[in-house]
Amino acid sequence: MKITLIPGDGIGPEIIKSLKAVMEKTGLDITWEEYVAGADAYKKTGTYLPEELFQSLEKNKIGIKGPVTTPIGEGFSSVNVALRKKYDLYANIRPVKRIGKVPSLYPNVDIIIFRENTEDLYAGIEKQISPTEAHSIKVITQEKSIRIIKKAFDYAKEHGIEKVTVVTKANIMKLTDGLFLQCARDVAKNYKGIQLEEVLIDNMCMQLVMHPENYKVIVTENLYGDILSDLCAGLVGGLGLIPGANIGENLAIFEAVHGSAPDIAGKDLANPTAILLSGAMLLDYIGHEDKGNSIRKAIEKVLSNTDNFTYELGGKVGTREFTTCILKEMER
Ligand code: ATP
Repeated sequence: MKITLIPGDGIGPEIIKSLKAVMEKTGLDITWEEYVAGADAYKKTGTYLPEELFQSLEKNKIGIKGPVTTPIGEGFSSVNVALRKKYDLYANIRPVKRIGKVPSLYPNVDIIIFRENTEDLYAGIEKQISPTEAHSIKVITQEKSIRIIKKAFDYAKEHGIEKVTVVTKANIMKLTDGLFLQCARDVAKNYKGIQLEEVLIDNMCMQLVMHPENYKVIVTENLYGDILSDLCAGLVGGLGLIPGANIGENLAIFEAVHGSAPDIAGKDLANPTAILLSGAMLLDYIGHEDKGNSIRKAIEKVLSNTDNFTYELGGKVGTREFTTCILKEMER
């Protein structure tokens, strides 16, 4: 099986090394087609996303990537956003669950976020009106809203979940968020037995901090989804633990929710769990749920022992040692 791989920068290469070892431990025969992207690629090839990377993705239909730094306020626009747009990877799916004995005030969090991945304020339509004024246009379409909302309802149906929570600010953005909300109401009519719960983004933040156990499936627009995923990550031990999938009609790219974490890069401090769980999601996607489960089980077991905690969880175990623990657990 061939998988396109972008190691990324910052902590990317360290966590990707861990990913390769763990994925290979499943016994699957994997050939990695590896490409640089972002600032590193620009230095080597004069482009942020090399043509060969596109060719590999289009051939393999499946990719996994480490974080690629997006410069703030200047320079090239996000490689992550560019890939999502080019391949119309409209569903950004982020499961948030407490693992093992990871320190958390909330033992019962088990939420999956369906984030629309291609429009909203990420449409990139920004305009400098004058030196002291800039505008950004929020784009919401019926077609793109409906397909992500359906994805969330289908997931709820398949997993016997009786409620889907749609998050907007439709009381203020009556046209854009109003449209997204209306699409949710329309879609919900076709799913008997699944309740649509409507929550405004500000209230959602408070509810998640106070009663996260009340939520199972959340569907929302691009920017709210990005912010809610980091908030939810914080409920269960932080960004080092949360995986993600970017899924389109016939191509999918998997990646951790976290970014390149330059503060800890190259120091053997990164927790690879998020990218390992992203690898497990990839294996589910291609029909190897058993192998995906073997990775998840090993992570659950390893993180049930506080001696195995990485630095950001309050422990002393580095990226390499943590990976060894997972590999040993998979052998058992
Ligand atoms: P981006 O905007 O690129 O998504 P971000 O602002 O969300 O990035 P990150 O780089 O994801 O920021 O990380 C924020 C902080 O969380 C880091 O500085 C780091 O301390 C911590 N962190 C993120 N990922 C990990 C990880 N895998 N292991 C340990 N700590 C992490």
